[in-house]
Amino acid sequence: MIETICSRCSIDLDHPCYDIQEHPLIPRIATCFPCAGFIHDAIQLQIKDNLPLNDICQWCSEGGSLLLCSTCEYACCEDCIKSHFGLGALDEIMKDDDWMCFRCNEKPIELLQTSFDSLKSKSVYSTALTAIEEENISDTELEFLRNQLKDGDEEPSDEDLLAVRVQKYIFEKLHEARLDAEWYLLYALIGQYLF
Ligand SMILES: [Zn+2]
Ligand SMILES: [Zn+2]
Ligand SMILES: [Zn+2]
Repeated sequence: MIETICSRCSIDLDHPCYDIQEHPLIPRIATCFPCAGFIHDAIQLQIKDNLPLNDICQWCSEGGSLLLCSTCEYACCEDCIKSHFGLGALDEIMKDDDWMCFRCNEKPIELLQTSFDSLKSKSVYSTALTAIEEENISDTELEFLRNQLKDGDEEPSDEDLLAVRVQKYIFEKLHEARLDAEWYLLYALIGQYLF
């Protein structure tokens, strides 16, 4: 079964308007934009304040009862383990002195990773990228964009150029969808996080 929710806040990501993010710490695990930002900031704060990384949960970035990884500097909270794998799994982990976290051992998260791959292929950002790959943008248009992005003598990088094309694509969709209030709001919301 494909799980289609943010693994941190449980918002439904199975909507073409919600862009899915990869969890900043756990490979190929789905989160929403705000949660990815929250987790990223929480780690940066620990590092900046010289606090141990296993003071917060690697999954949700909260404190609480934490289980420390036996091989790395991270930890995971009991609530996250319970909510993703059930009470039985938590009991097993509590008995295991050599428990390895979900960064160090990806076996328990394989199913969730499959869900991430499937959701990712449907996300707004990937849809925009695919559309852009298929779009035959003319040399003149590209040149125009390049000139627009030029900073003094500095040529824009290919990434900057691509980012602007994705932005343009999403805003065109936003424009097309302007009469459809729900889509409009969702695209506007994503626009805020993206740009
Ligand atoms: Zn979330
Ligand atoms: Zn947690
Ligand atoms: Zn670990």
